[in-house]
Amino acid sequence: MKIGILGGGQLARMLALAGCPLGYEISFLSPDPKPCAALVGRQIHADYADEGALTRLAAWADVVTYEFENIPAFALRLLAQSAAVRPGVDALASAQDRLLEKQLFADLAIPTASYQRIDAESDLHQATQAIGFPAILKTRRQGYDGKGQVIVRRKEELAPAWRRLGGQPAILEEVVAFERELSIIAARGLQGEAVFYPVSENLHRNGILRLATCRPDDSMQARAEAYARKLLTRLDYVGVLTLELFQVGDRLLANEFAPRVHNSGHWTIEGAATSQFENHLRAITGLPLGATTPNGVAATVNFVGALPPGAEILRHPETHLHVYGKDPRPGRKIGHATVCAESQRQLRGIVPSLLALAEASEAQLWRQHVHGQDALRCGRSPM
Ligand code: AMP
Repeated sequence: MKIGILGGGQLARMLALAGCPLGYEISFLSPDPKPCAALVGRQIHADYADEGALTRLAAWADVVTYEFENIPAFALRLLAQSAAVRPGVDALASAQDRLLEKQLFADLAIPTASYQRIDAESDLHQATQAIGFPAILKTRRQGYDGKGQVIVRRKEELAPAWRRLGGQPAILEEVVAFERELSIIAARGLQGEAVFYPVSENLHRNGILRLATCRPDDSMQARAEAYARKLLTRLDYVGVLTLELFQVGDRLLANEFAPRVHNSGHWTIEGAATSQFENHLRAITGLPLGATTPNGVAATVNFVGALPPGAEILRHPETHLHVYGKDPRPGRKIGHATVCAESQRQLRGIVPSLLALAEASEAQLWRQHVHGQDALRCGRSPM
């Protein structure tokens, strides 16, 4: 079986690694000249809008999938003329536009934060009357890892926030005082059968996921599954889908969904009977889905910007390291570690030291970065 993947980042790489034991051949289409997935598959180096390259990929692949939602919907439509494209274009179109996504949630009676549509700067004033302060201005498109959004605390910050986001169509959203952030990862197969992983409890800093902890038997599991199931059914979805949620009291508000495997599910590689990556491939190729049962408890710590020394990360034998092969850069996810423990207590004994390692190397990178910029401004070469 030949699988084409749009995108060549770490999610594509982990998909390809999961595809290897299944005997699948993988090709990536990526505009990046050195995508990190190239180590584990063939690469078509092209833009996502390159019709010739898309046609070549569709001619080669039995199934085409994607690792992120910011690709043009017309690319999927073109691919779908000669290859199976899973998940389908409807899921991508809703997930890549925050307004359409919110409208889909509303249609399915899935609660969300209050929001207002912003098409022009002049809409902002009226929107804040409905939403109040603080609020978050989010571009409708091209937002990820906290990009494309700005917190607005008072009236005077509205115009600068609008300019900072490039004056694009946006939504203004209420800031939710959530108790927890959760996500649920679901997989749906070709015959409509669905499986769900235990929810992950997620910790973000500066809009970037830092820690995802698997929470088996969580009190919010049933509700999270019910909301995810509504999406899967409405979209006639095939593949893995991730729904991100805010918990407020005993309510869950949907923040967004991703039509793909997700960072908050990396723990499933070592921490579940079948990983999210394998289940995505099983789903899109019509194989039976694998069990989602967790092996004990697991948590994933992200390495953002810089990677601590491997020997320090792996000091506890319950830890597994994944290095993506990407150059260090502030704000960039370049690896993660998953801890698989027998109890939450054991997990709590290991995870804080990993978070501290991650923070220390990220802080050091930022210091070097700032020092380099200062040196460049002063005409010196950075050390
Ligand atoms: P997003 O790109 O919408 O997933 O936002 C990234 C992160 O920003 C989320 O995971 C939250 O931690 C935070 N965030 C986004 N929207 C809100 C909101 N309406 N209220 C509070 N925090 C938010």
